[in-house]
Amino acid sequence: MKFGFLRVFWCVLLLASAGSGATAQSTGPVLNVANRVIPPFVIKQGTGYEGFSVDLWGAIASEMGRDFKWVEVGNVKEILGAVETGKADLAIAAVSITSEREQKFDFSQPMFESGLQILVPSRTSGSFGIRQVWDLFTTGAMPILLALMAAMILVPGHLAWLAERSHPGSLFSRSYFPGIFQATWWAIGAAAGQQPENPRSVPGRTLAAISILVSLFFLTYLQATLTAAFTVRQLQGGIQGPDDLAGQRVGTSSGSTSAIYLKAHHVTPTEFQTVEQAYKAMENRQLDAVVFDAPVLLYYAATQGRGKVQVVGPIFNKENYGIVFPPGSELRKPVNSALLKLRENGRFDTIYLKWFSAISSN
Ligand code: GLU
Repeated sequence: MKFGFLRVFWCVLLLASAGSGATAQSTGPVLNVANRVIPPFVIKQGTGYEGFSVDLWGAIASEMGRDFKWVEVGNVKEILGAVETGKADLAIAAVSITSEREQKFDFSQPMFESGLQILVPSRTSGSFGIRQVWDLFTTGAMPILLALMAAMILVPGHLAWLAERSHPGSLFSRSYFPGIFQATWWAIGAAAGQQPENPRSVPGRTLAAISILVSLFFLTYLQATLTAAFTVRQLQGGIQGPDDLAGQRVGTSSGSTSAIYLKAHHVTPTEFQTVEQAYKAMENRQLDAVVFDAPVLLYYAATQGRGKVQVVGPIFNKENYGIVFPPGSELRKPVNSALLKLRENGRFDTIYLKWFSAISSN
């Protein structure tokens, strides 16, 4: 009788613990799961982690009844490396599914729709400070235009001095100094259509006619370019989309799809281990923009970066995140079924809203 009671007692205890989570009903060895800090997907919290991917993986593991431990690495390259070398059985963070990666790894069903976007320092619309004026003259085609303008004055100045200096009634002194100053001064006047005196010699006059015509065309062009640049920047600010990135100082995280995108579009980015380091560099004015995964940038702009940074332009280079496995992994199918189950029973949406309602309502 006493023995029967004990048996019932142990059975109740066993049943109770079976319902308490993945640990008790674990159906295989502890899984090593690689991640990397990338808010809001993986956020370091004391000695543990939180975030969308952390919650999602927790739910998948509990659905599968598997125990796991996190293996944290530094960037996406190292995440893939951990799966490739067997240091991890799988990886989850914000890893984009790409055709190149698909050749070396297996991916789960897409777990998140993403893409790239641009983060820039906050600017109040209409503000136009010294920094913007400096940028205007130092970026894009403007330095070349300014150099051409200098050449347009120095070259005719020299030619005019050479042509005129030996003429008896020359406007310019025979010697290089101050002759060249006088000739350059004359060339500036000619470029502006205002020189008070005409050269005396035939070559000098021919040169004057040519340089006035060329300058007229060139100055009109320069004026139009400057006006357009000022207007566009005043209306919109500097970088508005991926087409404005050329010639800018752009940062991103090493080995990411954004680094690959930028290089393919002739922008050489500064690559940082963490995207936080890129944010810091932008705050310190060492970067004009950070190009990275849109949800990561939006999360930062809505939280710690609020008031300091803003996301601009459309989402480009659309990509999906997936869980990464070594090729042929037996884990892929059960992970996929768990993921689908979570989508069907609403758990996925709850996790999504927990992490992204802040961004969507911004
Ligand atoms: N989603 C990007 C990629 O897979 C960035 C991931 C990361 O830097 O962790 O390349």
